Parts: sequence; C-alpha cells; structure tokens
Amino acid sequence: MNTIHLLPDIVANQIAAGEVIQRPASAVKELLENAIDAGATKIQLIVKDAGRTLIQIVDNGMGMAFTDARMCFERHATSKITTADDLFHLTTKGFRGEALASIAAIAQVELNTKRAEDEAGTCVLVEGSQIKEHAPTATQDGTSIAVKNLFFNVPARRNFLKSDAVELGHIEEELNRISLIHYDIDFSFYNNGKLIQQLPPSNQKQRIINVFGAHFKDKLFPVELNTEAVKIAGFIAKPENAKKKKNEQYLFVNNRFVKHYLLAHAIETAYKELIPEGHKPAFFIEITVPPVTIDVNISPTKIDVKFQDDRMIYAFLNAAVKKTLGTLSLVPQIDFNYKPEYDFSGIKPKEEIKSPTITLNPNYSPSSFKSEKKNPASDSWQQFLSGLKNETVKNHCIEPEKLADTGLFHPPTPAGGGDEEEVIEETQLRCLFFSDAYLMFLRGNAFHIIDVKAARERILFEHFLNALENAPIVIQQSMFPETITLSASATEIVNDLLPELRALGYDLEQIDRTSFAVNGTPVEEESCHVQQIIEQFVEMYKTHQFLHKTDKNSAIAKSLARQKCGVKLKIISEAEQQAFVKQWIQCKVPHVSPSGKKTVKNFTDLEIRKFFE
Ligand code: ADP
Ligand code: MG
Repeated sequence: MNTIHLLPDIVANQIAAGEVIQRPASAVKELLENAIDAGATKIQLIVKDAGRTLIQIVDNGMGMAFTDARMCFERHATSKITTADDLFHLTTKGFRGEALASIAAIAQVELNTKRAEDEAGTCVLVEGSQIKEHAPTATQDGTSIAVKNLFFNVPARRNFLKSDAVELGHIEEELNRISLIHYDIDFSFYNNGKLIQQLPPSNQKQRIINVFGAHFKDKLFPVELNTEAVKIAGFIAKPENAKKKKNEQYLFVNNRFVKHYLLAHAIETAYKELIPEGHKPAFFIEITVPPVTIDVNISPTKIDVKFQDDRMIYAFLNAAVKKTLGTLSLVPQIDFNYKPEYDFSGIKPKEEIKSPTITLNPNYSPSSFKSEKKNPASDSWQQFLSGLKNETVKNHCIEPEKLADTGLFHPPTPAGGGDEEEVIEETQLRCLFFSDAYLMFLRGNAFHIIDVKAARERILFEHFLNALENAPIVIQQSMFPETITLSASATEIVNDLLPELRALGYDLEQIDRTSFAVNGTPVEEESCHVQQIIEQFVEMYKTHQFLHKTDKNSAIAKSLARQKCGVKLKIISEAEQQAFVKQWIQCKVPHVSPSGKKTVKNFTDLEIRKFFE
C-alpha cells in the first residue's frame, strides 16, 4: 500500500505560512513590501488590536488585473521573477511568491485592486486558502488588502502572540525598517482608528528625525563612500547616543533592511574606544552593490544576505565610519549654537570612558517598608542578618567551632533584641572597596564579598517597589518643563504607565501625539536625562516584563532598577561604603538580585582554615 501522498494545498500553505508569518508584524512586512514593489508613493497601514483583528494596507501602486488578483493567492505565484537566474538581478523586495498564499491560508483576506488603465477594479475574498468571491468592483486605483483575524484557524500561533504593546512594537519596527529606506514614500500608520505615525516624503535625515524624534536632529553625521564595487551612504549617530540596546541600528543592502552580524561589527568596531563597553551605536546605513554580487534568497523572511566578498565590504564600511568619526574629533564645529556634548579630544586609544556616576543617599532606608511579605527562602538569611546586626552592635565575637556549617552562610548566635529598627554601628562594619565591582566587608570571624551591581539592583528594586506600593517618591516640580519625544508605541506604553511613573517621581504630561512635558523629576536624583531614562525604561518594560507577565509593580521596579544599576556607582568614603552595605542588609531579600544573581559570597574563618590546611 502506498503511504506517501501530496499534501493538500491548504496544508502546504499553512506550513509555508509558519515560516513566513510568525506574527502580525510579519504580515505587515510582506504587504508593505508588495506595495513598494507595486511602485506606490503613498501607503497607509491600518491595524486594529495590534494586527490581531485587522491589518490593512492601502497603496496607490500599479494594481492588478482581474485574473492576477486571484492568481496572486496561489503558492509560487509571482510577477517578479521567471527564472532562477533572475534571483541575482533582483530589484524588487519580493520574489518567492509565497507571502499572499501564506497569509490567505491563515486569515480572512479581502483584496480590492484596480489598475489605472482598467475601467473596473476587482474584489477577491479568500478565507483559509478558499476563494469565496472573485468579482468586478468599483474601487480606486491601486490596491487595498485587508487581512482579518490572523491565525483564526491556527490557535497555537494565536496563543503565542504577546501583549498588544509588544505586537504593536513589532509592527512599528517593520514599518521603520521600510520607511527609513523608502523615505520618498508617504506613510501613515493607524491603530484602532488613531493616527500614530505620519511620515511625509522627505530626505533620509528628515525621515530619521520624523521616526525617532527631533532629538536626533543634531546628532546625525553623514557617512559616504563611493567605489565601483560598493556605494555606502547614510548616517551614524554621535557616540554619546550609544545605547545598551541595538534598537537604532539599521543596515540596508540594495534597499532592503538586512541583519548582518559582520557588517554591524564593522561599524561597531569603528566606535570601539568612543563608547562604553556593551553600548551600541545608532546607525542608518545603505549599502549598494551590484545585485549579482549578493544572494538574498537565504531565509524565507529575506532578512539575511550573503555577499560574494563580505571582507571587502567590511573594510570599506569600517573605513567609511571611521572617517566620519575622525572628522568629528578633528574638525571643530563652527556653528556658534553648537554645544559640544561629547569631547573626543581627551580620549586616547584604550583609555576607559567614564560612565556617568550617581551618589548614594546615605539616609535612605528601605527597611521602612510597610508591607512585610515574608519570603520563606530568605528566612535563614534573615536570621543571619539579625545575627549580624546583633553581633555588630554588641561586637560579639563568635567562636568558629560554634558556627554550624550551613553551606551558604552561617546562622546567627541566638541573641536577644532582633529588632527590625536596630541599627548597625557603622564603625563596626569594616569595608573595603577593592575593585569597581566588588566590596568586601568584615564582621566577626567572617568576611563577605558583595557584587556591588547586583546588590545595588536589589536595593533599588526594593526602593522603587516601595515607592509604587507605599510611599511615592517626592517630585521636584520644574519651572521650565523639558519636552521629550517618543516613538508611537513608547507613547502608548508611557500613557498606560503615567500613574506609576508619577509614583516613581516622573511627572509627565502628554502635549501632543508623541511628546510629553516633563513637569517634575524625582527629588532624590541630582540630575537626570529623562528622555533616556523613559526610553530605556519602556524598552526594558516591553522586552522583559510583558513576556513574563509578572506583577506589574514589580516588573516596573525591576526595569528601573536594572537600568539604574547600569550606571556606575561612585562609592568613595568608608562611611558611604558602610551606608551601602547597611542599605543592602536591610533589604527584604538581600542575597539575590531581582534578576536572580547572587549578591554575596561569604567566607568564614572555618572555610579559610580548611583551605590552608
Ligand atoms: P512576491 O511578492 O514574492 O511576488 P506575493 O505573494 O507577496 O509574492 O505577491 C504575489 C504577487 O501579487 C506579486 O508578485 C504581485 O504581482 C502581486 N501583488 C501583491 N501585492 C500587490 C500590490 N499591493 N499591488 C500590486 N500587485 C501586488
Ligand atoms: Mg511579496
């Protein structure tokens, strides 16, 4: 008996859809690409519920003839290539002929299209690969494709979708990837009937500013290189704009957004000595090469590209970026309004760039929490700490023999007065800051090494959580409110989080579509770059927290703590070191950071003796 059979088209299409359409944003990408391939100069992107219920693209491109309007939903149906050789002469974004077939397999699609030369247009309705209608219709020139209820017949995929904010963020990112290179096209983007992005035709620099906000205006510098083999054009941002996330890195090859590890590296290494380690520079760079020297048919999403000679491109790109950065440091700006915000002149190769520092508030005490949730895992630790407090207060010296070896740390000697309010006498706490990262302190017969960053993250986390749940941070109102501009999806998130941000000391007020006035900042912060803080906060909140669906307040506190503890702590005097240790000891769960890192390593006298035996 034969066991092999051909899969029905609907199944084959659904399988192909699994590769091409992972989420609403993938459909948006494919449909935008089709509109561009059709020569559109004006494209509207309309979504509902972050693309879950509707994704509609309306373009003024060339449209389709009656039969083509039906044909385009067939698998391997394309007008863009005819032979395999054409793959190496591509001028279009699409070529695989599978996007519409895939989308139609997993959604309800309504297509209305008309060519300028035709009297009537065509309407096609498809649902789960079944053509439900194919008829002439009255419609405007160009194409409108409405994709409804994506994944209606693939519940597993639907369940994988994240929150609306996350999905909307992905859609916005796909739009950015297209609009930043097709800056001559007019784009508008609506979600749930609200206009959230309007991009009139412009040059590349203006487009970048329109997408990312006016604060980019003085921060972009052109990169240009012209050779026979490769043409490089675009902009890089000042090193000071480097962020921890890569989200402002855009590389285009022959007008296509691509991800290319090696070429990103070529750019990043050019910045090497100018930005703190782990930071990523922003760039928007177009590389143009003869189509025969690249292969874009590597992945179904067409986001990867293979060059015939990537080492040559690497060298040119690296040189072009270095040249721009070089001009920045050597040529003085003759613009009298220009305020240099970053001084390259003093930076010698290999010299470490100093991160901004903040100082501790030695009076701050997280032990004033009202809600005392007991964490059973930390009970023994709490005992240890109360022991430590008693010990230091009484200068009690414990015999090593009496210490029960519990592995991670040692339980306290039973002593009276384990009172929460009890203070540690700082003079009894001997501290030594022996590197940027670690702080050692002695007590009795043991010494402890604290991972400063992890401990600080813990302190800040509990501090922010307390602000959100009990005692809001005091706000310092500003006389001349600064304005910050955010992306559309960031605006949505910030709007949702306004009360929480206020509890954390940031008093923001929306003043137009994507701008906020900063009416107040936390009193405890000496100076703060609100734009940066809010942007990073939103980014963290989006990527880490929605995914894990953790409790909102702790998610927010965690985001902010992670962000703040990235800033290097300046602990100078021993008193400050002691204050730091004290704050840490008074945390509810001191031994682990909110991201799950250990904060302390304890060495007992017993362990040390064993070691030397
Ligand atoms: P591909 O883009 O790889 O050719 P698609 O499935 O995305 O495959 O589209 C199939 C065909 O449908 C395209 O080759 C094109 O001829 C036609 N088409 C799709 N979208 C549009 C549009 N917006 N305007 C005009 N033609 C379109
Ligand atoms: Mg296509």
